[in-house]
Amino acid sequence: MTDVGFLDHLRGTLAEIEAAGLMKRERLIEAAQGVRVQVGGRQMLNLCANNYLGLADDPRLIAAAKASMDSHGYGMASVRFICGTQDLHRALEVRLARFLGMQDAILFAACFDANAGLFEPLLGEQDAIISDSLNHASIIDGVRLCKARRYRFLNNDMEDLQAQLQRARAEGARFVLIATDGVFSMDGSFANLAAIAALAAEYGALTMVDDCHATGFIGPQGRGTPAAAGVAVDILTGTFGKALGGALGGYIAGPQPVIDLLRQRARPYLFSNALPPAVVAAALAALDIVEGADDLRADLARNAAYWRAGLQALGFDLLPGAHPIVPVMLGEAPLAQAFAQELDARGVMVSAFFYPVVPQGRARIRTQMNARLMLGDLDFALDAFAAAGKAVGVI
Ligand SMILES: *Cc1c(COP(=O)(O)O)cnc(C)c1O
Repeated sequence: MTDVGFLDHLRGTLAEIEAAGLMKRERLIEAAQGVRVQVGGRQMLNLCANNYLGLADDPRLIAAAKASMDSHGYGMASVRFICGTQDLHRALEVRLARFLGMQDAILFAACFDANAGLFEPLLGEQDAIISDSLNHASIIDGVRLCKARRYRFLNNDMEDLQAQLQRARAEGARFVLIATDGVFSMDGSFANLAAIAALAAEYGALTMVDDCHATGFIGPQGRGTPAAAGVAVDILTGTFGKALGGALGGYIAGPQPVIDLLRQRARPYLFSNALPPAVVAAALAALDIVEGADDLRADLARNAAYWRAGLQALGFDLLPGAHPIVPVMLGEAPLAQAFAQELDARGVMVSAFFYPVVPQGRARIRTQMNARLMLGDLDFALDAFAAAGKAVGVI
């Protein structure tokens, strides 16, 4: 490489990240994702996966994936519109739409792509998008790629949302779309969808909800935050990479003309490969399981309540809430990293979250519950949290 100082410049940036205690390091898991994972030959209890229903290593999903490779092959070697659409892809879209109570759905390689591709084909310069300040990075990027005017409201602040709706209307917006996460993933808090839907109706706005941290385990039959709040939204996006099996793949569900136009114009759909049959078949199996999984949802809720109460009794600083995401607040990144390391030494895998993923000074350990954790596992983890918390001086 020509020496123009570029690589030294990058090394400098990396050194700054390291010096600020913000370097992220990846652990090597040596077998399947699950309640317990093997890392460096050790068994660890895993409290940081988005594997809410424990389906990531479920034998039924693995069997569906294997069978589909025998019947439909391994890869598609095509985008959807050239020759990458199998009967399985359409079956999953139809199944998803039915599950979510929408007219149709469209698959993407990931929900990141779904959100990145959603806004630009649907809205133009005359339109407005009003986005929650804590929305996922993929929504932020998708909004950036769209020519619509941008408005932002403070996280879950309905007065500010109303003010932004008034502004957008006063500034002459043709169509107005409110965009929000159903669950804010760093905090484990729910969007106030009842109030958002009421404001949307009052101001003639559309609503879009990203339900990645809800579909499968929140609301009746796991249909997500709109179903839990008893409201209808216009557009839903979501992922197969979390509760619905944990592999990958994303989707948008909504009214027929929305889905039809996205199929013509959404760039991550048009210019990226079709999902592999194994992933699509396992996602179909996951939806069948999830619809009837009241037992798993009850176990998950029990675990979340037990875990939250246990941490509270130990004196940790938690964000309030009822979601299986339970953030333990620590403040500065190096403390969060040290705490995660103490837990690692005690056989508990967690991950420290710090800037730029969360604001400066708001570093945390984000713990996440899984339906397949046993209360004995949680007692083991609470003992480890107590010892680690004392070791770093936070309790
Ligand atoms: C995880 C997540 C995404 C990205 O989903 P992928 O399918 O992994 O790309 C998008 N939005 C939210 C709110 C998420 O939590």
